[in-house]
Amino acid sequence: MITVRNLSKHFGDLVVLRDVTIDIRKGEIITIIGPSGTGKSTFLRCLNLLEIPTGGSITIDGISLLAKKTNVPKLRQRMGMVFQSFNLYSHLSVLENLTIGPIKLQGKGRREASKKALELLKLVGLTEKAYSFPDELSGGQKQRVAIARCMAMEPEILLFDEPTSALDPTMVSEVLAVIRRLAREGITMVIVTHEMEFARNISSRVLYMDEGIIYEEGPPEQIFEKPQKEKTRAFIHRIRSWHYAITSRDYDLYHLQADLEAFCDKHMLPRKIKEIIVHLAEEVLGIQSDYSDLSLNLHFSEKDGNLQMVCESEGAPVNPLEEGVLEDEIGLRLIRARSESMHYTYKNGKNILALKIKG
Ligand code: ADP
Ligand code: MG
Repeated sequence: MITVRNLSKHFGDLVVLRDVTIDIRKGEIITIIGPSGTGKSTFLRCLNLLEIPTGGSITIDGISLLAKKTNVPKLRQRMGMVFQSFNLYSHLSVLENLTIGPIKLQGKGRREASKKALELLKLVGLTEKAYSFPDELSGGQKQRVAIARCMAMEPEILLFDEPTSALDPTMVSEVLAVIRRLAREGITMVIVTHEMEFARNISSRVLYMDEGIIYEEGPPEQIFEKPQKEKTRAFIHRIRSWHYAITSRDYDLYHLQADLEAFCDKHMLPRKIKEIIVHLAEEVLGIQSDYSDLSLNLHFSEKDGNLQMVCESEGAPVNPLEEGVLEDEIGLRLIRARSESMHYTYKNGKNILALKIKG
């Protein structure tokens, strides 16, 4: 239905979309996830030409959106967009918000438009608010009106840009329920959302956007359970990382420990865990043999609480876990006692020691 090829969008020197290529088929429910600032909104806005792409092509049923002779307003009517901030007309009643488009833009009669509007209000559960004004509605109700208003134009595809992120938590589910309901009717949807459970349940396909491209895409089971790429994994598990670089044996251990403690405090790790981590850091550094180019990392998953410490040091391969390698094995024993598992590899000229920390 929609074919996007090598789409790019620059704002001056800022490259927001680098190279986006995707096919959207009729009836698909696509969710787009990813860190903020990675161009998700810009991508949706390019799809219905609220932004003019810098390069690439978008075609809808074979018609190029960017060709000069294309009737843009007409094409745009085939797509409805729901924004974070409802954008309702505050001086019009709910019913008038729904009928103004069909009457003014599609030339429909008032009676026909009102009849359709009332059906849609029923669909989104707001029949009794038909004659209210937007100011009299809660955020969740406003967003449901905005969705119904979109549907009133009978679009073939609905674009949602974080439809619940401006709402109080208590109102998120009523809006998601309405979107789920529409999804069952078979309308094609592209939804940018931070609601991971929702994305997982509703999507036929999930796109993870990062670095101005579709970094990984796949069915929800893949993206949420077995993401193939590192950044996707870090995003899904909400991994927060700490890094510390060391270039000589005389590194400043106190500074390192204070920095690590600050990271633990920032992520509200319990005091006991923090103490274990700080000790482990010291012991792990103590069993290294080359400090000329070393980095110590801690990865904390906000999703499941997993903690991993990884020490990477450049130099000849030395496996400290191998028997007889270390002169003094006390440090290693302390590390063992405090980790769930330890793992050593040598890769690209680096000794990599990774340990899972016991919670
Ligand atoms: P997301 O929706 O993934 O959070 P956006 O598409 O809103 O990301 O924005 C991506 C980047 O593009 C941001 O750095 C943002 O500041 C920038 N940006 C978006 N719109 C404009 C604009 N009209 N002019 C300049 N920069 C913009
Ligand atoms: Mg956005």
